[in-house]
Amino acid sequence: MKNIVLLGSTGSIGTQTLEVVEKLKDKFSILALAAGKNIKLLKEQIIKFKPKYVSVADYIDMKELEKEFNDIKFFCGEDGLFELADIPETDIFVVATNGIVSVKATIKAIENKKTIALANKETLVMAGDIVMKKAKENNVSIIPIDSEHSAILQCLNKQDNPYAKKLWITASGGPFLNNSREEMANFTAKEALKHPRWMMGKKITIDCATLVNKGLEVIEAHHLYNFNYDNIKVVIHPQSIVHSFVEFCDGSFLAQMGVPSMHIPIQYALSYPDRFEGIKTNSFNIYNKKLEFLEPDFEKFPLLKTTIECGKKGGLMPAILNAANEVAVYKFLNGEINFLDIEKIIYNEIENSKNILKPSLDEIFETDKQIRQKFL
Ligand code: MG
Repeated sequence: MKNIVLLGSTGSIGTQTLEVVEKLKDKFSILALAAGKNIKLLKEQIIKFKPKYVSVADYIDMKELEKEFNDIKFFCGEDGLFELADIPETDIFVVATNGIVSVKATIKAIENKKTIALANKETLVMAGDIVMKKAKENNVSIIPIDSEHSAILQCLNKQDNPYAKKLWITASGGPFLNNSREEMANFTAKEALKHPRWMMGKKITIDCATLVNKGLEVIEAHHLYNFNYDNIKVVIHPQSIVHSFVEFCDGSFLAQMGVPSMHIPIQYALSYPDRFEGIKTNSFNIYNKKLEFLEPDFEKFPLLKTTIECGKKGGLMPAILNAANEVAVYKFLNGEINFLDIEKIIYNEIENSKNILKPSLDEIFETDKQIRQKFL
């Protein structure tokens, strides 16, 4: 039986993680949950999964919950996440939060030598050098939950495979794959939120439409698998059946395929390196499937290139890009700007920010904060 601490339990990945755990009750148990402000759903999760520890964003919510569940130890705020990172009985620390709130707690869990199952993008995008160095020093595995990185891990068979030459990250191409730039400028948030293949949160769905998400995944792959940027390629695969592939030195390509369901990579991150039946999706019919692999159009989706370039520059640049992108995406979702204005906001921030190579965690967080404050 493995004990799971789950940060971000009420989000898209969090709820799907709990669905996986429910199917594998004999293998996993929920030791702790952390959620933000969706207390209604959190209460349902507490009743169903009976965690020993729970952390919420706000003090008031914590006080309310304490009255209702007196056999649970409650925490709140960022300190609450640190407390969860310190629980000795933890086997797997699942990070399914959005944003930067969990980055420091994740580093603490690494220092406590806990296996990390990582769905949060900011951890590696903003602080990949620091986090991976810590993981190496503490001999801790960072198992990705994202479908592409999970596919790569499954193809590599282990995190460090000397015969692997290139990583090929697949992208669905998002909802605007076949639209012109003129058409893209006029699309509303509602249209951009219609992702053709995957069910995801709003922010990441817009990141799929701009292909920023794919650029961020390239940065994550660079850190996770210690691959040079020149050996990480993006390939558009509209059917989303192949979730990424690895090219080996002898010319072999290994790909991982399956229905586009996050349950599979989530479960693999928990079961790694084993596999269980769990939530097995039976509806995948391999017959009569056509698979296309297209070269990305960097002119139509210039942010893909920009994001990868920020990764190559390193230092603070990925954090600058990430913060500017997040601000821009929320402006678009609120109807304040049009779809292509996301690019303008990002370019403006990149041009006007100064890079520091090898920044400290505090410098990274400060940069992130400064960019966000400008747009408040
Ligand atoms: Mg992905």
